[in-house]
Amino acid sequence: MITALQSGCITSRILLDGHDYLQRLALNNKVVVEWIPGHAGHSGNELADELARKYTRGDNVPRAYGPEPIVPIAYAVVRENVKKGLDKRHQEIWRNSKIKHKLIPGPLKGTGTVVKKSRLATRILTYVYSGHAPLNKYLYRIGLSDSPSCKCGLDDETVVHHICECPLFIRQRLVYLYEGIANKGMIAIAQQSDLVAFIMASKRFSRSLE
Ligand SMILES: [Zn+2]
Repeated sequence: MITALQSGCITSRILLDGHDYLQRLALNNKVVVEWIPGHAGHSGNELADELARKYTRGDNVPRAYGPEPIVPIAYAVVRENVKKGLDKRHQEIWRNSKIKHKLIPGPLKGTGTVVKKSRLATRILTYVYSGHAPLNKYLYRIGLSDSPSCKCGLDDETVVHHICECPLFIRQRLVYLYEGIANKGMIAIAQQSDLVAFIMASKRFSRSLE
C-alpha cells in the first residue's frame, strides 16, 4: 500500500480510499506514513487486528473466501443475477423446444406455481396450455366425437374458442375472466386460478376430470 501510494499512480478503489483518508487526515494533522511489522505489540496495529477479528467472528457477518481484497456483493444482487441467468436459460430451452405452443408466446411467468396446485388444477392447465383439451375439435380427431364443431354452431370447439369466444359461456367468462369475449392472447396473461375457475364453471372438461 505504501509503495503503491508512493508511485503516485492509483489503480484500485481500495488505494483511492486509502489515499483519500490520508488526505482528509492531513488537512489538520501532520501525517507520516510508516511501515511497521505486524503482531509486534504496536498498539494501533493490535487494535486494528482485534477489530478485524471481532468483525469476522460476529454471528451475522457474511464470510468471504478467495483472493483479497474482498469486494462485498449484497445477497439480493447475487440472487437477482442467479434469477436472471435461470430466466435466460429458460427462454433458451423454450426457443429450442420442438413442442409447438400455439397459445403461449413464451415461458409463462410463475409457471412453477402450476406444480404446487392440486392435481385437478394442474390437469386443467395442461389441457389449456397444450391445446389438447377434451373439447370437440380434439375429441373428433381422436375418434371420440361425431363432429369438431361447438354446440353454438359458430366454430370448431377448440381451447381458444371455448375460453375466449364461445357465446354459450359469456356469463362464466365475465365472472371468472372479466371479459365477455376475448382474443386468444388472454389465455397467456390470465391468472391460472381464474382459468381453472372458468373451466370448472363451464363444466365442459368435466367428463375427463372425473
Ligand atoms: Zn361455441
